[in-house]
Amino acid sequence: MVVDSTSGPGPSVSRFLVRDPALWIGGKCVAAESGEDFEVIDPASGRPIAVAARGGAADIDKAVRAARTAFEAAAWRDLSAGSRAQLLWRYADVIEAHAQELAELEVLNNGMPIGFAQWSIAASANWLRHYAGLAGRLAGRHNSAAVSGDGQRFHAYTAPEPVGVVGLITPWNGPIAGFMIKVAPALAAGCTCIVKPAENTPLTALRLAELASQAGIPDGVLNVVTGFGDAGAALVDHPGVDKISFTGSTETGKSVLRAAANHIKRTTLELGGKSPCIVFDDADMDRAIPGAAQAIFANSGQVCFAGSRLYVQRASFDRVVEGVAAIAASLRIGSGLDTGNAVGPMISDRQRQRVVDYIAMGKAEGGEVVAGGRPLDRDGFFIEPTVFTNLASSARIVREEIFGPVVVATPFDDLEEVAALGNDTNYGLGAGIFTSHLAKAHSLAARLRAGNVWVNCYGVTHPAMPFGGFKESGLGREFGEEGFAAFLETKSVFVDLGGL
Ligand code: ADP
Repeated sequence: MVVDSTSGPGPSVSRFLVRDPALWIGGKCVAAESGEDFEVIDPASGRPIAVAARGGAADIDKAVRAARTAFEAAAWRDLSAGSRAQLLWRYADVIEAHAQELAELEVLNNGMPIGFAQWSIAASANWLRHYAGLAGRLAGRHNSAAVSGDGQRFHAYTAPEPVGVVGLITPWNGPIAGFMIKVAPALAAGCTCIVKPAENTPLTALRLAELASQAGIPDGVLNVVTGFGDAGAALVDHPGVDKISFTGSTETGKSVLRAAANHIKRTTLELGGKSPCIVFDDADMDRAIPGAAQAIFANSGQVCFAGSRLYVQRASFDRVVEGVAAIAASLRIGSGLDTGNAVGPMISDRQRQRVVDYIAMGKAEGGEVVAGGRPLDRDGFFIEPTVFTNLASSARIVREEIFGPVVVATPFDDLEEVAALGNDTNYGLGAGIFTSHLAKAHSLAARLRAGNVWVNCYGVTHPAMPFGGFKESGLGREFGEEGFAAFLETKSVFVDLGGL
């Protein structure tokens, strides 16, 4: 483990950081009703870098009104599919033209390695283009033959329609990706949006909303209200919001679902995980060992589908654990702005303390630390990538989501046993399988109760493939046809032809 010196941002980012705190409502900067604001912290230094407006219920109400007006307006509602697609393409182009600025802002606010920020910006542009294509392929079904007969005749069809005004509540672990995975399909479906970014990372959402305006997306179609959980709760509770798409912790997701029930509000939840990464003896170890390490250490383990439970077939256990521990020890830790660094900080002091507490708990539960295990004695919220062994499956550190770079490795004997171990969790988001045996891979993929299974790879996503969780990892899907349908209502129309 090597620690670097911290590098600084470019001039366009510096200008953005010193501006007055504001929300983005109806296509312009608007002060929060309360006049309150809060500090935005660079987790790599622990120091404030900007001030954000603290939006509350009154601001949410203002944003919902703006979004409703925009939803009803011909300038948005009556756009042809081609024109809507063109706007999304233009938005993608504008984002790419500002890629460097967005990447620096993302890293400064979140701490992630800049390569990950650059990936999420390129991916966001691609998602917009992917959904631009889908906007033109939205079609209902014609069903006259099935509903007619016995003396009755109907012309019957279904029409997909935008669900309406949508509240998009995003987490801090991937602010740009978390924004665009929701905004791109929502816009393509014809919805209007209020985004409530996480309080730790409000900056890139504001910049992305400004860039949407620059691309020609009409005022009020995309609004951003920065603030805390009370602003998110006000969004969920607002009767003018037709749907909530939420990404965050399972605990908060449960309260979102309870509150959404008051209005039978459509709800998509993308929540926590405790995902297994499984390595068989017959795996190509040159892929499996780095794959298992990347599964947990990417973005400092602050990933909902992080492979935080590593299961290795017994004969290969020592080799794989030593390999993953060696990678943990070799990863360069430091500011994400320095391209030489592979591991950034935890998002906050609170999050670092949470990981430190889990590590202490793992030791108390009898676990052995074979790599890492300590916070760094320097500015910023850094912690060493950590590998545990020797823990029972009942240990809290094996069962609870940590959201940090901490993996617990456990040996197994056969497929039956590892299927049971993998499924021994309330979560069901991801699972990795490393094997060179085709039938084993498919058989285990079918047995694992997880929304995403990766064979000989980990964490791959694509907008054409649905992403989401079984069990307490979520409700519904993002991406794929399912993710697009989540921003649509289906209407059935019957026209009586019996009069003729
Ligand atoms: P964490 O505990 O890691 O901060 P959360 O799940 O609480 O994660 O936060 C995810 C997002 O949900 C953030 O934007 C946060 O402000 C928001 N949020 C927090 N509490 C609520 C709530 N009760 N209702 C709606 N949104 C909330």
